[in-house]
Amino acid sequence: MTRTGSCFCGAVQFVASEIGKLGACHCTSCQRWTGGPLLGVSVPEGALVVTGSEHVVTRRTSGWATRSNCGTCGSPLWYRYDKGVDGTGSYEVPLGLFDEKDDIPLTSEIFIDFKPAGFAFAGNHPRRTRAEIMPASPEGA
Ligand SMILES: [Zn+2]
Ligand SMILES: [Zn+2]
Repeated sequence: MTRTGSCFCGAVQFVASEIGKLGACHCTSCQRWTGGPLLGVSVPEGALVVTGSEHVVTRRTSGWATRSNCGTCGSPLWYRYDKGVDGTGSYEVPLGLFDEKDDIPLTSEIFIDFKPAGFAFAGNHPRRTRAEIMPASPEGA
């Protein structure tokens, strides 16, 4: 099923021909980037077609990934894994950018040990700590 979406101002629009799962990342980098957890829908490399790409501002935010925002309105657009790290260059696109999102369930949470104590998501899905997902890394995500 094809999915469409856009940033706050509409300068950047996308069509995802395929989506994977919805996960929440509570790492401090995603908190500062989005203002809360990143509720990211995975989109395989090659499945994301972007229009308005001249408005996309991309920053390298770790040794294995970049984060992109709309340079016009500031909306977070996607977290992207480098090719060669997970082997794909896949994207994590914030759920809120999608036009249709009611049928995309939350299936996992990571960096659960960094989640602020004042809220919690319902559901009986896996919740992994930083040490469980990246035991060898000295840094955040
Ligand atoms: Zn925008
Ligand atoms: Zn994160």
